[in-house]
Amino acid sequence: MSVYSNSVISPHQFSTLVELLIYRAKNQSEQKAYTFLQSIETEAASLTYKELHVQAQAIAASLQALNLGGERALLLYQPGLDFIAAFFGCLYAGVIAVPAYPPRRNQKLSRLQAIAADAQAKIVLTSKSILDNLQTSSNQEDLEISGLHWLATDELSNDLAQAWQPQELTGDTLAFLQYTSGSTGTPKGVMISHGNLLHNERMIEKAFGHTNKTIVVGWLPVFHDMGLIGNVLQPLYLGVPCILMSPVEFLQKPIRWLQAISHYKATTSGGPNFAYDLCIRKVTPEQLATLDLSSWEVAFTGAEPVRAETLEQFASTFAPCGFRKEAFYPCYGMAETTLIVSGGEKTALPITCNVDKAALEQNRIVKQHKSQGDIQTIVGCGQSPSDQKVIIVDPQSLTICAPEQVGEIWVAGPSVAQGYWNQPEETEKAFRAYLADTDISDAETSIPFFRTGDLGFLQDGELFITGRLKDVIIIRGQNHYPQDIELTVEKSHPALKPASGAAFSVDFKGSERLVIVQEVERSYLRKLNVQEILGNVRQAVIAQHGLDIFATVLIKTGSIPKTSSGKIRRQACRTAFLAGTLDVMEDWSENPQNKA
Ligand code: ATP
Ligand code: MG
Repeated sequence: MSVYSNSVISPHQFSTLVELLIYRAKNQSEQKAYTFLQSIETEAASLTYKELHVQAQAIAASLQALNLGGERALLLYQPGLDFIAAFFGCLYAGVIAVPAYPPRRNQKLSRLQAIAADAQAKIVLTSKSILDNLQTSSNQEDLEISGLHWLATDELSNDLAQAWQPQELTGDTLAFLQYTSGSTGTPKGVMISHGNLLHNERMIEKAFGHTNKTIVVGWLPVFHDMGLIGNVLQPLYLGVPCILMSPVEFLQKPIRWLQAISHYKATTSGGPNFAYDLCIRKVTPEQLATLDLSSWEVAFTGAEPVRAETLEQFASTFAPCGFRKEAFYPCYGMAETTLIVSGGEKTALPITCNVDKAALEQNRIVKQHKSQGDIQTIVGCGQSPSDQKVIIVDPQSLTICAPEQVGEIWVAGPSVAQGYWNQPEETEKAFRAYLADTDISDAETSIPFFRTGDLGFLQDGELFITGRLKDVIIIRGQNHYPQDIELTVEKSHPALKPASGAAFSVDFKGSERLVIVQEVERSYLRKLNVQEILGNVRQAVIAQHGLDIFATVLIKTGSIPKTSSGKIRRQACRTAFLAGTLDVMEDWSENPQNKA
């Protein structure tokens, strides 16, 4: 197929992202593809499809001159559009892009070094300002990765574009390595092919009900799946405007996100549950009065548990600005499935399921009506499309679960990635799982599945996520989900910082016991009523979960181990607790001498 044809081509006919961008550059050359906001009124930078194409060609030509086809290039950029040009530069050169977390000033580069080593990167693509900053850094060991070739792509001349040699690429060619967030361990490099990307973009387009009228606003980090595949590549796939801002801008002043939606009349925008919570807490009534959120059709929420309470509160807080609760779009996905696995009906209200708490602790789903007993509300994360298979499997027996049973979520389909870079054993375990009771004649279930490590259940095709297998706390034979205990803890006292606690278990004298690690709000640091806090936490956890706490550790604001996408790293908290390396302000333990 000639991508230079002028007829309108549906994007799912392309087999690589390179063909797609070339097509857009040819047919929508002067259209603004990306805008990066400095503030709402000031656009810091923008790129048309043509400009992006030319920059990608110039970067690709430089990579080709270094003979780097098939090698890995680490992408190290501050939030902005240079990252996007570099990403496409890699694709144009057949170089495997490795988006990485940009270093903060004077921060050690150990995380970056780990990724560079794991990906066996040959080159670092970056900006002049980052390069200058690193070269003047006093920490010479940081420059160890200077053993690699460094290239400041914002200094390259567009004249180089002419030297670009188009590559032979197919849907099977690896496009990039997408590192997992590192919530449960060390981030793993997931191998994403062009075919994976295009399939997932198609899934997002269909599930989100996107059209050529869609406008996307985003602040999520582009070195994670949701930011890159959802915010950056989906608009390119559709050929529609994309307005981006830095994650820090949002975190410092959440109103800026909503202002951008209001100003640009965005139809699609979203983030993890915590982002909506932050808006509820931080947006003032005066600010609220300035917003018009009536254009917002898809307020996607994923990447971490979706809380019914957050959806309710956000919808009622922002209803006066034109926000409609139907806009909420809970969805589920991960790096290993490129991005999305499931999502709901665009125009429907989120689906919730009230289940019996005690039965849930036994992995059973017993539906309840609101008024009855001790219930837990779980938000549905939509359905899987027909060309992908999602099944719920007993993680021990590897057999399919009954509909009322909680089990591990397994996924098969064209969006499932090619495996973990350079980790054949891990790849085999996670990506090539087979059911124990496979019926060879059943083509639907005798295929290899990807084991997500997440727990959940299906009800009438709707997927509900209950938590992560690795993080589940099993005490006296009952399953407790840490996120529920953490929510109970943070609500038990105003001095406790929301979304900044971890619950996990440790072995004490042969039985598993509950430990709580929780950050304190900065404004309470000087007037901390420790006894009151510890008492509230203990009572709330006993009342709502029936669990005695073995140890509670109050730690400094901002010190809990989190991923670069803001998720709690519970296993890392547990390790730090056992090693005594948490930034402790106050603590209490049933066994103070020997904490576990
Ligand atoms: P790592 O794999 O390194 O431990 P991670 O799993 O957090 O990190 P990602 O691939 O970025 O890395 O995140 C995907 C995970 O996020 C899912 O496996 C799931 O645990 C969680 N998640 C995503 N969407 C939802 C959702 N809607 N509800 C609950 N959890 C979700
Ligand atoms: Mg994961």
